[in-house]
Order: sequence, then C-alpha cells, then structure tokens
Amino acid sequence: MTERTTSQKFQFSLLNTSGKARRGVISTPRGDIRTPAFMPVGTAATVKAMLPENVRATGADILLGNTYHLMLRPTAERIDRLGGLHKFMNWDRPILTDSGGFQVMSLAGLRKLTEKGVTFKSHIDGSKHELTPERSMEIQRLLGSDIVMCFDECPALPATDAEVAKSMQMSMRWAQRSKDAFGDRPGHALFGIQQGGVTQDLRAESAEALREIGFDGYAMGGLAVGEGQEAMFGVLDYAPDMLPADKPRYLMGVGKPDDIVGAVKRGVDMMDCVLPSRSGRTGQVFTRRGVLNIKNARHQDDPRPIDENCTCPACSHYSRAYLHHVFRAQEMISGMLLTWHNLHYFQEIMQGMRDAIEIDAFGAWEAEFHATRAMGDIDPI
Ligand SMILES: [Zn+2]
Repeated sequence: MTERTTSQKFQFSLLNTSGKARRGVISTPRGDIRTPAFMPVGTAATVKAMLPENVRATGADILLGNTYHLMLRPTAERIDRLGGLHKFMNWDRPILTDSGGFQVMSLAGLRKLTEKGVTFKSHIDGSKHELTPERSMEIQRLLGSDIVMCFDECPALPATDAEVAKSMQMSMRWAQRSKDAFGDRPGHALFGIQQGGVTQDLRAESAEALREIGFDGYAMGGLAVGEGQEAMFGVLDYAPDMLPADKPRYLMGVGKPDDIVGAVKRGVDMMDCVLPSRSGRTGQVFTRRGVLNIKNARHQDDPRPIDENCTCPACSHYSRAYLHHVFRAQEMISGMLLTWHNLHYFQEIMQGMRDAIEIDAFGAWEAEFHATRAMGDIDPI
C-alpha cells in the first residue's frame, strides 16, 4: 500500500502543567490526541465487544493495536493488502502499535533470544516466527500505525540488577536499530522505550541512550509487570523527569484508575490497558465509588443504575438488576454494556484530569477522586 503523503507533522504541544501533571495535545495527520490520554486496547483489530464508533463516543482519541497478535493472525501482509489497519478495523483516528516484544515474552512458546532478535512459536498454531527490530518496524509500517514502538526486551521478574542492566543495554542497541529501520516517515512517530527495572541508575542510563538517538516520544517500559503500585510510583517519582519535557511520555500497560491518576500526577501523558474492556466481560465494574462486581446477588433486585451520575448507555437505560441478569444468563449484551461503561468511566477520569490541569487544580481534583472512591459503593437496596 502506498503510504499517505502528508505535509502535516507529528507534533506534541504542552499546554498546561499543575504540579508535575501535564495537559497537552499530540497532533497527527489522523487527528489530535488530547493528553493525558488513555488508549483502549484493540488487540486483534477490535476493542472487544465494542463498535469503533462507540469507542470513539466514550472519548478515546487513539487505540492501541498488538503487533504480536496481528502478525500471527491475520498477518501484517494481509492487513496491508486490505488497505491497512485503520481501514480494516474501521477506525480512522490514530493507532499506536506495540512492538510485539512484550507479548512474545508473555505468550509465545519456545522462545530463543539472541542479539539479533527473538524466534518463537505461535501460541495459536505452533508455527515458527522471528521478530527483530527490523521486522517489527516492517510489520508496524505494514499495519499503518501512526505511533510505532521500538522493539525491546523486558526481562522476566524476578531479575538481578546485572540481568536487568544487560537486557536494558541490548534494548538500547535495538532502539538504534529500530530508529535506523524506521527511517524518515513524515506524519508517523517512533517512540523509544526506557528500561532499567526499578533501579534509578539503570533508568538514567537508558534515558540517556534514548535521548542520544532521538525519538518523537518516550515510553517507560518494564513497569506494571507485577512489581506493585508502590514500587511503580517509586520509579515514576524520577523516571519521567529523565525524559525530554517537550515530547510525550507514555507509561505502557497501566492500569487501574488509581494507577492512572498517580501516573499523571508524576508527569505521564499516555497510558493503555486492557483492564476496562477485559473487566467488562468478567462483570467487574469501575465507578467513581470504587469497583463493584455485577454478578454479586446484592444487585439482583436493584432497580438503580451502576452510577446515577454516569451518562453511558449502561447507566442511562439499564438497572443493576438487568445487568446482573444478563451477566448471569451469559448474554452478549452484558459484555457490551459493561465494557462501554468501563471505557466511559476511564475516559471521564482523563477528561477530569485534563480540565483540572488546565486550571492548575490537579491536587484538588485528586483529593476528590480519592475521597469519592473511599466512600465505597452505594448501600444495598
Ligand atoms: Zn455508566
């Protein structure tokens, strides 16, 4: 497929700050991304249980697609022949794709890691594949991704400092190879990924290597992999400050609502997580007043909505009793409505933070966020 020719550049404008929290906008040829931004995950070219226009209606400016899944099925070459990922999945706004590295490590079988890259067997049919920085750049180009991620390696935990350092240093060599293979693609962005585990010196070394190469944005990788919120926030107390202030900062794979708020407070601009959509399918519902489980018997006679202040379709038109019933009956509308509500709520958090940062009132907004959550769910009927 011929690449869209465009004179419009990928550009980040920082608009306001409140403490370390930042509000900005990423301009791309496919539309603006308001930051801080939460990216719903469209693993297999779909945000499960949602039409793309409905995902957009929740307030999402950008989706994340998974290179690992798409390269195996239906393959990047097929998506390219069919006009690229945006057309294929009917989403014409920005898409960020991960590099495939993380999911090879977490999903694939029989992995072999060398300086060149990683070979592995598909978790779907056992077929053998290779991912290298060069191949990852090629796949993400074939998909037509707007924001491309460098191919990196994230060591399995627990790991010693020496193991984390060795892995990080290889990821930095892969970052240079990713940059070389990405080339010059106006309107498209390449993000570097900081590694270094929970060790400040290694994070600093990684950030320095990435700044030396130069990227359109910078991600923090190797977090939200089981280290716990306290350790993650510990790293986020210094890691974002090591990255250029005039470029977007992306925290990969985060998170729960309080993780997201804590990350934005520490200077993160972008995040992604499967949590709102995955939880929607298992009956877990995120609200201003915390988490509730719709399968709990306490909801079966409750005519009230999940959240009377929420304007999503699940809360506007359906009772807890109905949502409890369709979940129990395993009706598809259950996953659809609960996913919609969760995505709506996550985007509402982002909008609330953007509004608060705009008037330099992030601290007050954060206090209210935590105070409302501490109230817990409304009393049973
Ligand atoms: Zn709702």
